[in-house]
Amino acid sequence: MAASPKAYPAATDTTTRFAPSPTGLLHLGHAHSALIAWRAAREAGGRFLIRIEDIDRTRCRPEFTEAVLEDLAWLGLEPDGPVRVQSRHFGEYRAVLENLLARGLLYPCFCTRAEIAREVAAIGAAPHGPEGVLYPGTCRRLSTAEREARIASGEVYALRLDMAAALAEAGGPLLFEEVGEGPLRCDPARFGDAVLARKDTPASYHLCVTHDDALGGVTLVTRGEDLKPATELHRLIQALMGWPAPAYRHHRLLLGPDGRRLAKRDGAPALRELRAAGRSAAEVIAMAGG
Ligand code: GLU
Repeated sequence: MAASPKAYPAATDTTTRFAPSPTGLLHLGHAHSALIAWRAAREAGGRFLIRIEDIDRTRCRPEFTEAVLEDLAWLGLEPDGPVRVQSRHFGEYRAVLENLLARGLLYPCFCTRAEIAREVAAIGAAPHGPEGVLYPGTCRRLSTAEREARIASGEVYALRLDMAAALAEAGGPLLFEEVGEGPLRCDPARFGDAVLARKDTPASYHLCVTHDDALGGVTLVTRGEDLKPATELHRLIQALMGWPAPAYRHHRLLLGPDGRRLAKRDGAPALRELRAAGRSAAEVIAMAGG
């Protein structure tokens, strides 16, 4: 078995984090989420970390990173440690991918979306997982010679997890601890052969988030309930890499007056707009359910 790129021992004190993607300005929904993480750390006398999840260079912008950090500081949510900016650490994510590749748990996938859609249509059945239609496994069946020839010819590829191989390697049933609910059983197979490195981004959210939670010694992941299904895949990656499993608390999303989740594109006011309109940090915290 290839050596793990780094061993991350389980932390003993409560460590939480807020991990926004700088694709826009923070609004009350973000403040709500950040406050939950910050408060959980404070109540336990632990640590609160901030991580900027900006691996998607097409959607994230440096000016939003700056704005996020400024808004959090204005709210008084200062981190207990350096802010981690994921785009500065692609080498670390690459090392994890190399490890999984060397163990035969990843394979290159050259398919375009259109090719996947055609293949799925030809099969006549389209099982879906939490991230949409399941990959039909086309590139998993390529011979080593064909793979090497296509890589050598410069074709771009994603890296997919060979789910069956990964489950076999992880062994026994996987569980995650959801605060207030107890251990929940994971069924990562629902994701099929998930993408862990995209063609246009050298690592996926799932890979970076699990790596960084392990690196930061995060013991309690608090985040929106929309990410609860992803935790099943995260547990599998943690098991494969020998990383400690944090506890999870998936919170309800803050809804707007129309009953839909707050989103900047639907007109949810940005924190800095509230600030410019004269609201104090304490008032914004109260509006965010604090
Ligand atoms: N970066 C993700 C987001 O902004 C959150 C990731 C997480 O908390 O695990 O939605």
